[in-house]
Amino acid sequence: MLSSLRADWLLPIAGPPIEGGSVTIEDGRIVAVESTAPSGATNLGRRVLMPGLVNAHTHLELSYLHGRIPRAACFTDWVRPLLAARRTPPDQETIEAHAADAIADAVESGTVLFGDVSNGLGALSPLRSAGMAAHVFYELLGFNMPQPDAHVAAARSRIAAEQQAATEDGREVRFSVAAHAPYSVSPALFDAIRRDTSAHGSPTTVHVAEGREEVQLLSDGTGPWRTLLETLGVWTEAWQVPACSPVAYLQQRGFLDASTLVVHGVQCTADDIARLRSSGATMVACPRSNAYVGAGDPPLSDFYAAGVPVAFGTDSLASVDDLNLFSELAEARRLAPAVAARRLLESATLIGARALGFERDYGTLEPGKRAALLSVAVPSGVTDVEEYLLSGLTTEMRCEMPFPPPQA
Ligand SMILES: [Zn+2]
Repeated sequence: MLSSLRADWLLPIAGPPIEGGSVTIEDGRIVAVESTAPSGATNLGRRVLMPGLVNAHTHLELSYLHGRIPRAACFTDWVRPLLAARRTPPDQETIEAHAADAIADAVESGTVLFGDVSNGLGALSPLRSAGMAAHVFYELLGFNMPQPDAHVAAARSRIAAEQQAATEDGREVRFSVAAHAPYSVSPALFDAIRRDTSAHGSPTTVHVAEGREEVQLLSDGTGPWRTLLETLGVWTEAWQVPACSPVAYLQQRGFLDASTLVVHGVQCTADDIARLRSSGATMVACPRSNAYVGAGDPPLSDFYAAGVPVAFGTDSLASVDDLNLFSELAEARRLAPAVAARRLLESATLIGARALGFERDYGTLEPGKRAALLSVAVPSGVTDVEEYLLSGLTTEMRCEMPFPPPQA
């Protein structure tokens, strides 16, 4: 059955804003995006109709840590209590209950697709219950890992089983393996993960250049990360100091290409940004989390100026107060005041969907895509609707029906 929604503003992302346009939906998919409204269209009035948002970096299974890890002045000061808390995790039921609440809050603030990083696949059940679309990155760590190929093979068989179950259920959930970070993954484990993701043609992800300590470790093998790795009993003299930046290191390992979502990039230099640009990798910025963990501010304007594709993530509730991407956009606007509002909005929709491999179904208002539509109330007096969407919205968002999308 056809149904049409008219709003005072359409933000297709695929093209310029349309005043007073309409979107027509049939069987959960968009069939038309027009500058006029067909008779019988539901008029949403003073609202902006846009594609739902894409949170390209979360750790839903860590939602139980909300409010438990203090804000820190430097990254390793944030990591220590995180590691301590994760040593005694709650039971699976508690992990799932917190993840379910986090998902519900994210949906309420306009998110329709997650890039979710997971070490225990602890949020799959709440993702399933919510009918959420997601790419789940099964993240591996091991700075001193004797048999990396066996480790990756075990991860591969686990996600293959989950993928089969999701496909049989018609769920929009996909899986791949991913690497945690240069300070927690050995060179051989990076290589083994790379072989797996290349063989499967999947996107992968890695945290990179987050805190200053990571830069120091890769530069000369010293500093707080060296101390922490020794304390954890995983430091090995076999690790060769790369003597380069974290981004250059990933490039040397062959871990940077168009299938890679690199997360954070706070410490990126101009050379690093040039490397990212030529690799085709997508930078997933999580600026609120970066401030919380004491890493600093990412060079967001420089990423845009260089033409690096930028997506947005919130990171986990262990380092951010909520999973509201509009709050992330407000922080992005503060850090990158000269970047066009339209580009920031494209980052929170199309760029994230494309990086996660969901561009066919999400990210824009275009015929053929899922009708995962978001409408946002626009107060009277607002004339620049795109800029208004960057002002830190917390209310008056609405996922327009049908959402969650029916499994077609
Ligand atoms: Zn993260």
